[in-house]
Amino acid sequence: MTSSAPDTRATRQAIIDACLWMNRRGINQGTSGNVSVRVGTRGDRMLITPTAVPYDMMTPEMLVEMPVTGEPAATGPRPSSEWRFHQALLAARPDMQAVVHAHSPHATAVACQRRPIEAIHYMVAVFGGADVPLTGYHLFGSEALARDVAATMAHRHGCLMASHGAVVVGETLDKALWRIEELEALAKMDLLCRAGPVPPVLLSDAEIAQVVQSFAAYRPGVAIPEG
Ligand SMILES: [Zn+2]
Repeated sequence: MTSSAPDTRATRQAIIDACLWMNRRGINQGTSGNVSVRVGTRGDRMLITPTAVPYDMMTPEMLVEMPVTGEPAATGPRPSSEWRFHQALLAARPDMQAVVHAHSPHATAVACQRRPIEAIHYMVAVFGGADVPLTGYHLFGSEALARDVAATMAHRHGCLMASHGAVVVGETLDKALWRIEELEALAKMDLLCRAGPVPPVLLSDAEIAQVVQSFAAYRPGVAIPEG
C-alpha cells in the first residue's frame, strides 16, 4: 500500500496540474471533471477540486480539504458536487490514493449506451478484471450514485456511470491519470469495433486472468509497459 501524501502546496499544485493535463489531453469537458487525493498521516483526509471553478483559474488555496468520512465544512470553499463518490471510493479502497472523474467523450458515449466495456482488448485488465463495469443511473452528486460507484468498483479500478461519465482510482495520482486516459482509449476502440459489421472477439476470463497476473508481476509504482 502506498502512503498518503501530505497536504502541502506541492500536493495541491499536482492536483491542479492533473486537471490542466486532462484539459490538454481532451479528457475533460468544461468544469465537469474532478480530482481527489488522500492526504494526512492517518490517510483519513482528502483534497478535492472545488465546484464550478475552471481549471485554469484554480489556485492551490481553492482546493478543499475534508474528511474521507463525514460532511465537508459548512463554510469556506465548496468541494466538487461529486465529493460523495470520491469519498466513498477513498473510504472503500484504502489501497488507492487518488480518484479521477471525467466526462471524456468516448467513455461517456459508452456510458450513455448503458453498457459496460467488455474484454475486447487485453488492456481492459488495467481495470482489474474482464470488464469495465457500468453503474445504474443516479442523479449526479447523490448518495445513491456514491453507493453504486463504490460497490461497482469493489473489485475494479474504474467504471462507467450510466448516462454520466467515467471514474477511476489510482495507487498514486499519476496512476489514476494514466487509467483515465487508458479508459478513454479503450472506449474509443470499443466504439470503433462495434461500428463495423464484424463484432469484436472477446477475450476469455482465463486469458484476462493471465494478463492481470502478468501486470501484477511488475514492481508496484512502475508504470505498466505498453505491450
Ligand atoms: Zn460528472
